[in-house]
Amino acid sequence: MLKQIKEICEKYSLRPWRRRGQNFLISQKILEKIIEIADLKKDDLVLEVGPGLGFLTEELAKRAKKVLAIEIDKNLVGILEERLKNYQNTKPRSESYSTTGVEIIKEDILSAETEKIIFNWLKENLKDKTPTPKGRGSDLQSVGGYKIVANLPYNITSRFLRIFLSSKFKPESMVLMIQKEVGERIIAKPPQMSKLSVMVQFYTQPKIVFKVKKENFWPKPKVESAILRLILFEREKIDEDKFFKILRAGFLSPRKYLLNNLEKGGVIKKEEGEKIFNQLGFSPKIRAQELSVEDWRKIYFTI
Ligand code: SAM
Repeated sequence: MLKQIKEICEKYSLRPWRRRGQNFLISQKILEKIIEIADLKKDDLVLEVGPGLGFLTEELAKRAKKVLAIEIDKNLVGILEERLKNYQNTKPRSESYSTTGVEIIKEDILSAETEKIIFNWLKENLKDKTPTPKGRGSDLQSVGGYKIVANLPYNITSRFLRIFLSSKFKPESMVLMIQKEVGERIIAKPPQMSKLSVMVQFYTQPKIVFKVKKENFWPKPKVESAILRLILFEREKIDEDKFFKILRAGFLSPRKYLLNNLEKGGVIKKEEGEKIFNQLGFSPKIRAQELSVEDWRKIYFTI
């Protein structure tokens, strides 16, 4: 794979761009493991973030019904279109491949425009289903309809998770290559919780499936990596702005008591907070990182 990647870069005079997190995966074995963990079915819709040179995209395309690949770098989009032309809106290549509809879009995955593109893609491809929240009028959030698979640019991990976990149209699962330390922070338990771990564990059951050494990328990154699998729950609907405001405030100064942070963050006056904490059975001296997701849920519903 490394040889092929270097050849492509040479052919198109491409130099991997560090600021865009362009560290390409060069291990076929790890690529296969990602595919295995993604557990794709023939009628799955898959969103890939940052397809790069398209090696993972190609494997996704062979297995899923449709792949929507969002890539920010226009030079890579040009290469992808050429390399994956056999997979774009063509008929099944063989019995074992369900269909091969890859769409490559030049966009920033974090942009509002991308949200619209995904919505329209889901609308087009979800058979007989429009991506409306589960069971009209239900109290559950809308989960499902598509899966995300990505070797993420590491500098956008938190923002990416925040957007897709609180999206109106949440994926049913994500298989993500991320920085190992970030993965460890995500699966942390009290008293080592962070805003990130609460957010991810509120919506999903996260698991680090395996760790990946730097040597499996070109150019070699500075950090180690891990494959994180997130399976989303069907959660009750919440006011996500309110929930994130509470979380942001709670973690303002990790060394301070939660009650002080909540007051400083404009969530609740200290005296009122003390009453609520008493009612919930929390010590007034508790710190944000000591609370479980269930504790945050209780705070959200009581405030
Ligand atoms: N999928 C390829 C692989 O596995 O080798 C490339 C992965 S590389 C770690 C991250 C990719 O994400 C790069 O192709 C980069 O250009 C792209 N990227 C970076 N920021 C992005 C953003 N905000 N939106 C979409 N793609 C982005």
